[in-house]
Amino acid sequence: MPKRHHRAIATAAAIALLWGCRAEPEPAELIIENVHAIDAAHAIRVDQRVAVRGERILSVSPMADPAPAAGPRYDAGGGYLIPGLWDMHVHFLYDEALTEPMPDLFLRHGITSVRDTGGELERLAALRARLRQDPAPEPRIFISGPLLDGEFVVYDGEDPGRPKLGTAVPDVEAARRSIAALEAGGADFIKIYELVHPEIFEALVAEARARGLPVAAHVPLMMTADDAGAQVDSMEHLRNIELACAGGWASLLETRRSKIRSFAQGRGYDLRRQLHAEQRPQALADYDEVRCDAVLDALTSTIQVPTLRLNTLLTTRPFERPDWAPALAALPEDVQQRWRALLGRNRPAAAAAAGLRAFAEWSQFLVGRLRDRSVPVGAGTDTPIGLAIPGYSLHTELELLVQAGLTPLEALHAATVQPARFFGLEGELGLIEPGMLADLVVLEANPLDDIANTRRIRRVLSGGQWAFTADDPALPDSKP
Ligand SMILES: [Zn+2]
Repeated sequence: MPKRHHRAIATAAAIALLWGCRAEPEPAELIIENVHAIDAAHAIRVDQRVAVRGERILSVSPMADPAPAAGPRYDAGGGYLIPGLWDMHVHFLYDEALTEPMPDLFLRHGITSVRDTGGELERLAALRARLRQDPAPEPRIFISGPLLDGEFVVYDGEDPGRPKLGTAVPDVEAARRSIAALEAGGADFIKIYELVHPEIFEALVAEARARGLPVAAHVPLMMTADDAGAQVDSMEHLRNIELACAGGWASLLETRRSKIRSFAQGRGYDLRRQLHAEQRPQALADYDEVRCDAVLDALTSTIQVPTLRLNTLLTTRPFERPDWAPALAALPEDVQQRWRALLGRNRPAAAAAAGLRAFAEWSQFLVGRLRDRSVPVGAGTDTPIGLAIPGYSLHTELELLVQAGLTPLEALHAATVQPARFFGLEGELGLIEPGMLADLVVLEANPLDDIANTRRIRRVLSGGQWAFTADDPALPDSKP
């Protein structure tokens, strides 16, 4: 989050605080009544009344208390209120056909904030500016701009099947320049990718730190997860942790370094794929728990965004769920056709399938280890990559996090408090407390009983405005 945003928010919070001290209670603009409030700090508070004024929560109080000053009321009838959810890993520009529909799809699925973890900065900034001008509610969009890659770039745009998400950072001077340009262009954080050399990685991190920009990263293949990961704020997909958790991690690292150094021509994508194809099976077979615990203990200040949904696509097969087809039907027709065709023919060869299955099992196992070693976890999906329906797929991720060992409340924490923390916004977003931004979701049923109940969305409030209403299509701003 750029510092200027911090200042604006701090000023608004100070004003709210001053107002809060006045003797007369502020009139609410909306009161949500008869609701059980659930968040990661309080677990459940039953029978509450939540008043909202402007874009912020004014008060949270038991229904038994006297009602605050008048305002329009919404009777939630014993529903459950959770903070607006985040998807920590999306790509607005990965599929052009989905760029426009994505903001509304997020809102209707209760996702009120997203982190775009890779795409062309100017286009993302323009998309965000246009949505902000539109009076209709939009999700809060935080952008990194391109994947900052090495001399060779994994997503270089050369292959028509893969868009240009990456950019080359060949030397230390380029690293400094690119971070300055990203900040000037509106980036909220940066994203470092896998073919970056260690000295460039250090320069990127140092420059981002100097400018107050949080850092998300894949583990560069010339480094290890405990080394690179400890220096950044979030890591994605659990990728390359297996390489650090192997008993023979040091020789695997040496081999990767020499192969990357001697790679003279070809595609970055192929280089990365080849290294993973060679080393991942070896590393998984050579898992060393003592070594891995040491790696995880280096990561207790780094949020892991496992994207279990993506990592386990082959084994969990979310497209076989009964609610997948109706969710897919909300996407543009040509996307539906392309995805159905993929499902029909894209069966991996037996050897590749075995590798994917092993990585899926490893990913689920590792999330349990993260929890045991107190490594923070964030919820993200990689939408729309790997058949991820925007918005819908975050609920699949929450279920998978619970299956891997998190409690439902911890899964909610991963999709609310943790992402806010990444941006230093834990005082603004993620909990249901007076002064916080009023991003809220009304559910039919208790997500602490069954995390799948986060799918049962009745209404979504974004910055104090109804952004989606399933129970009152007559509301002018509803998007049924
Ligand atoms: Zn991604």
